[in-house]
Amino acid sequence: MPEALETSQQHRRLVLKALLWLTVGGGLVFGAVNVGREMWLLAGLEIIYAIFALSLLRIVDTTPHLRMWTLIYLFPFFALMTFALVLPRTSFTVFAWIQTVPIICYLLLGLRGGLWMSLGFLSLGVVAFNYRYMTDDSWLNIMVAANVGLSSAAILLFSHIYERSRVANEARLLELASTDTLTGLANRMKLAEVFQRERSHALRDNNPLSLIILDLDHFKHVNDQFGHEGGDRALRHIAQLLPQRLRDTDLFCRLGGEEFAVLLPGADLAQAAERANNLRELLAEHPPQIADASQVMTFSAGVATLGEDGQSLDSLMVIADRRMYEAKGGGRNQVVAAGQQYHLAPMSSGR
Ligand code: GH3
Ligand code: MG
Ligand code: MG
Repeated sequence: MPEALETSQQHRRLVLKALLWLTVGGGLVFGAVNVGREMWLLAGLEIIYAIFALSLLRIVDTTPHLRMWTLIYLFPFFALMTFALVLPRTSFTVFAWIQTVPIICYLLLGLRGGLWMSLGFLSLGVVAFNYRYMTDDSWLNIMVAANVGLSSAAILLFSHIYERSRVANEARLLELASTDTLTGLANRMKLAEVFQRERSHALRDNNPLSLIILDLDHFKHVNDQFGHEGGDRALRHIAQLLPQRLRDTDLFCRLGGEEFAVLLPGADLAQAAERANNLRELLAEHPPQIADASQVMTFSAGVATLGEDGQSLDSLMVIADRRMYEAKGGGRNQVVAAGQQYHLAPMSSGR
C-alpha cells in the first residue's frame, strides 16, 4: 500500500531531467560552435549553463523543492534563449526555439505557471524579433514573424488544453483511488494519506491523535438472511449514519468488507473510546432498514492512540485491531481501549 497518493511530481522530474540532459548536450555543442565563431560572451554563457544543468542533474531525482529548482533553472534558460535571439550574429533560425517555450513551461510548471511563463517569454521573443528584424520591414520578415508567432500561439493553446484535461483526469483518478465505491467513503489509501498529514500536525502542536477500528458483529448472518444486496444496504446505511456524529476534521473510512476506521485528530485515548461508544449508541438508535424492517446491528471496536500505542499507522492499526478482537471475545457490541471497556448498559465500566 503506498504511504500517500501520488501527485504529478514524478512526471515533472522526468521532463526536467530530459531538459537538463538536452541543455548539457546543446550547451556544449552550441558553446563550441560559438567559440568557433568568436562569439565569446554567448559561448561562455552556454558552457556555464551546461555545467549548471549538469550539477542540477545530481539533485533532480531527490530534491523535495522541485518547483523552486525548476524556476531557478527556467528563468536563466529562457533569458539565455532571448539573449541569443537579439544578438546580431546569431542565425535567423534560432527563432525556431521559441516554439518550445509553451511545451516546456506547461510540462514543468502546470496550468497557471505554464501560462504566465509562456506568455512572458513568448512576448519577449516577439520584442526580440522586432528589435532585430522589423527595422527594414520587409514582407519576408512579416511573414516569418506571423508564422513563428501564430504557430507558437497554437502550441500554447494546445499545451493549455492538454494540461487542463490532464489535471482534471488526474484529480478524477486520485478521487477514484481514494474512495470506496460501494459506500463513497474514504478508503484505506486515503486514510494513509490523511494520517501522514495529521500525524505531522499532532507532533508539531503536541496534540493527541487516535484511531478507532470497528467491525460489524455477525455480519455474515445479515448476508445469509437478506442476501448480498441486503448486506450492501446495511453497509451504505452505516456509511451515511455514523459520520453524522463525527467532527469535520475526523475521517471515517471503510477498510474493506464490514470493517471501518475512524481517525480522530485532537482526541486522546479516553476521548476516542467515548466517541466510539457514541457511534455504537447511534447505530443502536438508528438500525438499518432491510426488507422493510429495522434490523438490529452492532459493532465491536478497538481504539489506539499515537505515542502510547505506536508512531505509525501500521502500528496503531495492529493495536486497535487486537483490541477490536478483544471486544469480540468479550461478547461483542463493545469498545475496548487500553484498560477500559464500554458496554451497552451501563454506559461505561472499568474492566
Ligand atoms: P464477527 O462478529 O466475528 O465479525 O462475525 P462476522 O459474521 O461479521 O464475520 P466476519 O467479519 O469474518 O465476516 C465478514 C463478512 O462480511 C463476510 C463477507 O461475506 C461479508 N462481506 C464482506 N464484504 C462485503 C460487501 O462488500 N458486501 C456484503 N454484502 N458483504 C460483505
Ligand atoms: Mg464482522
Ligand atoms: Mg470482518
